[in-house]
Amino acid sequence: ALQDGRRVTGHRSASSSPDIRERTLIAVKPDGVQRRLVGKVIQRFEQRGFKLVGLKMLQVSEDILAQHYSHLRAKPFYPDLVDYMTSGPVVIMVWEGYNVVQSTRSMVGHTNPVEAPPGTVRGDFGLHVSRNVVHASDSVEGAKGEIQLWFQRQEILNWESCDQAISCE
Ligand code: ADP
Repeated sequence: ALQDGRRVTGHRSASSSPDIRERTLIAVKPDGVQRRLVGKVIQRFEQRGFKLVGLKMLQVSEDILAQHYSHLRAKPFYPDLVDYMTSGPVVIMVWEGYNVVQSTRSMVGHTNPVEAPPGTVRGDFGLHVSRNVVHASDSVEGAKGEIQLWFQRQEILNWESCDQAISCE
């Protein structure tokens, strides 16, 4: 049956449906691009079952970085962070799915790779806290702001996966 525009499965009512449209911003930072890790990073999130709804490569401006990292502007490492993040292109993505923010944070691992367990992106590929390969939003609210900062509305695509259509028909 369809209720409120959503298909209801046996054990769930529409009102308690999980938010499968949660979104997060993930970036492969310049070191990740330079080390040819873009594909590996994307593969992990695809394999987990999340949906890629936005993707672009760009050279970051200091202005956008100042907004993105406004919480770190007073830190002593901030100038080095700017140098690092502007040292080459980044790949910026929007991923969608149930609990995507929390799940991708745990898949990315601790900010400092030395504390990130093997199996996480930073635990497997990170060299140093100042070269930690990826960014992932740390809250649903934060993700909303970051997605607005980095993406235009029309750059995010709402595609439906064909496997869902098959199983639901
Ligand atoms: P996260 O990226 O895990 O959300 P933060 O928001 O605290 O972590 O920091 C943003 C980025 O700033 C980190 O991913 C890292 O690249 C850099 N950074 C954080 N702490 C340090 C540090 N002590 N020295 C150098 N760079 C740092």
